[in-house]
Amino acid sequence: MTERFTGSFTQQEPIPEAGIEAALAVLRHGRLHRYNTAPGEIAETALLEEEFAAYLGAKYCLGLASGGAAMACALRALQVKPGEPVLSNAFTLAPVPGAIASLGARPVLVEVTEDLTIDLAHLEAQAKASGARVLLLSHMRGHVCDMEALMALCDRLGVQVIEDCAHTMGARWKGVPSGRHGAIGCYSTQTYKHMNSGEGGFLVTDDAELAARAVLLSGSYMLYARHRAAPPPEVFERLRLEVPNVSSRMDNLRAAILRPQVAMLDERRARWRALYEGMERGLAGAPGVRLIPRPQHEDYMGSSFQFLLPGWEAARVAGFVAGAAARGVELKWFGAAEPAGFTSRYAHWHYAAPEPLPQTDRVLAGLIDMRLPLTFATDDVDQIARIIAEEAARALAAKALAPVAAPVAD
Ligand SMILES: *Cc1c(COP(=O)(O)O)cnc(C)c1O
Repeated sequence: MTERFTGSFTQQEPIPEAGIEAALAVLRHGRLHRYNTAPGEIAETALLEEEFAAYLGAKYCLGLASGGAAMACALRALQVKPGEPVLSNAFTLAPVPGAIASLGARPVLVEVTEDLTIDLAHLEAQAKASGARVLLLSHMRGHVCDMEALMALCDRLGVQVIEDCAHTMGARWKGVPSGRHGAIGCYSTQTYKHMNSGEGGFLVTDDAELAARAVLLSGSYMLYARHRAAPPPEVFERLRLEVPNVSSRMDNLRAAILRPQVAMLDERRARWRALYEGMERGLAGAPGVRLIPRPQHEDYMGSSFQFLLPGWEAARVAGFVAGAAARGVELKWFGAAEPAGFTSRYAHWHYAAPEPLPQTDRVLAGLIDMRLPLTFATDDVDQIARIIAEEAARALAAKALAPVAAPVAD
């Protein structure tokens, strides 16, 4: 009898008890809005910002309504104008080009390498061809490029970097926390990321003017003096009548849920890494499967796992994904012709009018993705890896292939 995995790829851990207690306290006093404080009270949101800034060694931090809102706020703080080109990864999730499009700006997409990081040679070519002055760099699925080379290139080109750290909150590159290389780092606290408040996000920076602009943009109603991880009032005084309110604040309920989770990030990284490394061991030598190398400087979180099926025909990949699904193993195929469950193929972002990117097409055609929630045990990972290796062997051996829609650019 063939074994079947019965766990859930989408079940996260519960909110820690301390977060539940703190959330109940906020619900009981009713002051959920971040600026609704009793005399002498410091809002949960302001405390969370201070604690997250300290964790990252950042001067300033702003809590926001989502990771997408954080990226849009960062772009606005850098005063990106409608129609302006903004560089970004072709391999990322829809909220990244969406944040650029939300300002009426124009995403200029950059090819991905087989290591799933941004292609620096193509980045340079796209920067020169477009004249873009901002890069929204997505550390998609936690794969971090050579950040020293990237920052040197962007400095040379006069390009400012916003880091999308939705998948690298808690990760480091040569000891530097992800999000601390560029001008602004953006994070998500959506349920499937590394801290869970349902929805939510952060932005961090060391630049006082950018921080003040971001606070005003988020909708601070001239109450910016109640922030603790923000610059002093004189920085705001120059800007407060100039910067529009684009309401996207975090609230005290989410902040209460998140505060105990900041201190858990490092332990979560160790637990995710044990799952990730178990999957790497389980899939080493699986037929037709190529694993993604992880550079030694990249202290990654490992909350999801990717591998390549290089050179596989679309029908064979589809058969493999269906075979795994029939045995309870939920895999996402980035090369699928139609977006299912999430949209990560650049060709589907019609509003960005993307040019064909042949290297990215080739990588995505064979790219498989799965979540590794912390509710998995190492035995679960071992079993999933066994099923994947067996199904890969079966799909490779299959002679008759059912036709599937070819994953061509549309
Ligand atoms: C989830 C995600 C975001 C944004 O997160 P939201 O909080 O859902 O807006 C940004 N980038 C990537 C790569 C993501 O996966």
